[in-house]
Amino acid sequence: LAQVTTLRLGGPARTLVEETDEESLIERIGLADETDEPVLLVGGGSNLVIADDGFDGLVALIRTRGIDVREDGPDGVLVTAQAGENWDDLVARAVSEDWVGIEALSGIPGSVGATPIQNVGAYGQQVADTILSVRAYDRRTRRVGELTNAQCEFSYRDSLFKRDPRRYAVLSVTFRFSVGDLSMPIGYRELAASLGAAIGERTPLQRVRRAVLDLRRGKGMVLDAEDHDTWSAGSFFTNPILDADAAASLPDDAPRFPQPDGRIKTSAAWLIDHAGFAKGYGTERVRLSTKHALALTNRGSATTEQLLDLAREVRDGVEKRFGVRLVNEPVLVGAEL
Ligand SMILES: Cc1cc2nc3c(=O)[nH]c(=O)nc-3n(C[C@H](O)[C@H](O)[C@H](O)COP(=O)(O)OP(=O)(O)OC[C@H]3O[C@@H](n4cnc5c(N)ncnc54)[C@H](O)[C@@H]3O)c2cc1C
Repeated sequence: LAQVTTLRLGGPARTLVEETDEESLIERIGLADETDEPVLLVGGGSNLVIADDGFDGLVALIRTRGIDVREDGPDGVLVTAQAGENWDDLVARAVSEDWVGIEALSGIPGSVGATPIQNVGAYGQQVADTILSVRAYDRRTRRVGELTNAQCEFSYRDSLFKRDPRRYAVLSVTFRFSVGDLSMPIGYRELAASLGAAIGERTPLQRVRRAVLDLRRGKGMVLDAEDHDTWSAGSFFTNPILDADAAASLPDDAPRFPQPDGRIKTSAAWLIDHAGFAKGYGTERVRLSTKHALALTNRGSATTEQLLDLAREVRDGVEKRFGVRLVNEPVLVGAEL
């Protein structure tokens, strides 16, 4: 499975199939469920850490394609994309067609169908802001149904799908975009600064996409087969959300982002760096990206166990120094931290 993950890690699958047809995908999953064969759905493999022992079950690569566009009133469009569509191709199309709302999510690897799983987000946007509904095969009821945005129970890097990973296969996602050539109000300081704009300002969609791609490349967050700093699963840890007391015990200069519920989000990258794990920390085989302390990278000949050892060392070091326990963002398959 190393061939289908961006970390280039993971042992063999019992069975590996590539599904370009939705009905055939549902049939395969149904058959596996009848015989209690474990199922792993894979899009772009960019948020997966698979054990060196591999996966003793059915691995289905979701490659269904198709995008349908309908008008929604004078200033909106409804866009339904099949799960196997490439996410960044959809963002590029949105920007060129003046569909507003996902421009800051440029450059995120993977498939459209995986974006609701962890409510993909970056630079002040998240997919939950534009997803109208998700069509999914429910393995419990053996039916295809449509979940509304509220039913998906989206929160920061989380959803119903992530919490109950064995239940749904996402088949397609419908987005509602407003139409215009200016972005959503810029909500992220670093992006605003690179655009020379104020927080809350709207700027042309193309400029936002270019600025985001530049920022991401500088951090090794755009896939590039030649650059080992991008042989990762993106951010390895989520940003901790702390209650007021825990946040107060952090050093004065730690980042603090107040949340609507009164809690405080801090920066996992800052904690890692200030616990003594600088960019590039690690061994010849696995190290923190030399461009971003939050990405754990395979330098070419790593094993999953070596990557997890580094993750444990970083997690434990941060906990010892700051009393905050980091939680992994990617999905671990057959492995534990
Ligand atoms: C360089 C890099 C940068 C990244 N930057 C970001 C970022 O800025 N923001 C962010 O949020 N994430 C980021 N990520 C993480 C990742 O790209 C996203 O989570 C992405 O949505 C994963 O898509 P995928 O198709 O690769 O999913 P996969 O890795 O194939 O799968 C991830 C999970 O979703 C499940 N899944 C996949 N498809 C389906 C489906 N159709 N139905 C049901 N379950 C499914 C899988 O079983 C697995 O549990 C980054 C990753 C990398 C490598």
